[in-house]
Amino acid sequence: MKYSYIMVHYGELSTKGGNKKLFISCLNRNIRHALSIDFPEAKVTNDHDHTYVTTEDYDVNDIVARLQEISGIQRITPVVKTEKTMEAIRVVSLALMSDEEGETFKVKAKRADKRFELDSYGIMSDVSGHILRNRKIGVDLHNPDITLMIDIRESCACISCHTYKGSGGYPLGMNGKAMMLLSGGIDSPVASYLLVRRGIKIECLHFAAPPYTSDAVIDKLTDIIKKLNVYQEDIKLNIVPFTDLQLAIYEHVDEPYCITIMRRMMLRIATAVAKDHNCHALATGESVGQVASQTLESMIAINDVTNYPIIRPLATVDKNDCIDIAKKIDTYEISIRPYEDCCTIFTPKKPKTKPRIKDCEYYESKWDWQSQVEACVKGIKSTFIKNGEIVYENSTPEEK
Ligand code: ATP
Ligand code: MG
Repeated sequence: MKYSYIMVHYGELSTKGGNKKLFISCLNRNIRHALSIDFPEAKVTNDHDHTYVTTEDYDVNDIVARLQEISGIQRITPVVKTEKTMEAIRVVSLALMSDEEGETFKVKAKRADKRFELDSYGIMSDVSGHILRNRKIGVDLHNPDITLMIDIRESCACISCHTYKGSGGYPLGMNGKAMMLLSGGIDSPVASYLLVRRGIKIECLHFAAPPYTSDAVIDKLTDIIKKLNVYQEDIKLNIVPFTDLQLAIYEHVDEPYCITIMRRMMLRIATAVAKDHNCHALATGESVGQVASQTLESMIAINDVTNYPIIRPLATVDKNDCIDIAKKIDTYEISIRPYEDCCTIFTPKKPKTKPRIKDCEYYESKWDWQSQVEACVKGIKSTFIKNGEIVYENSTPEEK
C-alpha cells in the first residue's frame, strides 16, 4: 500500500510560542521551494500541528530524503490517511503491515481528537488483535521489527510503519541573516551549513589577493556555494579586492602581528558590508586553538574592532567531526582542491598567539588604513548563485 501523504513534525516550535504562525508559513514556503524542482506536483498543506505533503506518483523515499535537508523539521512520517472508523483503521493497518518484513510488531496509538470512540489503549489492543488474527507474527513491546503508528487527527486517522529524523532547528529565514566569511577551506562551508540549519540565512564574503591568489579560488567558492544551495536556494558571494591593504599590512606591521591585524581589517570590512546588506551578525569557520589566530586571546584582539556578534559554529567542533559534516554535505572534495588563500600566502613564521589590543592599535597608527578599508568595500564584486546557477554577476543586486 502506497503512502499517500508525508506528515512533517515541526522542529523547535514549542519554544517559539507566539511565532508559531511565522514558523509554519516560513517552513511551508521552504518546503514548497525545495520540492518545486524534482516534485512539482506535490502539494503542501498544514493543520495546527503538522504540515502534510502529498506524494503523488513520486517515490516516497526520494521526497523524505529531500525533506531531511530542510531546517525546522524534527521528524518526517509517511502516512496513509483514512477515515476515522475502527473498520477503516484495521483494514489500512493490516495492508501496511503486509508490506513489511519482520517477526515481531508493536502498535503505538495517540489521539489528538479526544472524542474518538476508543482511547489510545483501546485502539492499540483492537488493531493488535486484528493483526494477530490475520498474520503469523509475534508481539514485542520493547524491540519490535515493525512499529505500526496510528494517529487520530481531527479530520482523519494517519497510519504509518516508518518515521525518519529531520534536521531540526528553525526554518531558514526565521533567524535573520549573517555575513559568512568564506575561505574555500574545509571549515567555512561546514560553518555555513550549520548556520543555515539553525535558520540563519547567509551571504558570503571572500577576501581575494590577486595576483597572489588565483582566480581558480572563485570557481572553487562558486562550486561550494552550489552545494550549499541545497539548503539555501540563493546565496550572494561578495569578493573583496584585498591585495593593496594586505601589502600595506606587511609593509607597516611587524611579522608576528600581521595575521592579527589582517583579521581585524577583515572584520572591519565585513562589518561595513554586513550593515549595508542587512545582515545582523558575522560568521567564521574558526575553531578554538586550531591555529595561532584562533586562540581565545586572539579572538579578543580581533573582536575588538566590531560590535557585531561573531558566530563561530565550529568553535568547539573537532576537525574530524567537521570533515565528516563536509563529506555529508558534499563540499569536502571541493575544499581539498589545492588553492592559495590570502591567509596562507602571507603566514608569518611566528604568529603572535596572545596579541594585545594596545599593540594592534600601535601598528594601526602607522598608516591610513581607513581609506584602504573604504576602497575594499567599494571595490566588492558580487555574484548571486541560485539553485546551482550564477544568476547575477559583478554588481550588487537589490536585496530580495
Ligand atoms: P577554512 O578551512 O574555512 O579555510 P581554516 O581552518 O583554514 O578554515 P583559517 O584559514 O585560519 O582557518 O581561517 C579561519 C576562518 O577565517 C575561515 O574559516 C573563514 O571563516 C575566515 N577566512 C580565512 N580566510 C578567508 C578569506 N580569504 N576570505 C574570507 N574568509 C576567510
Ligand atoms: Mg583557511
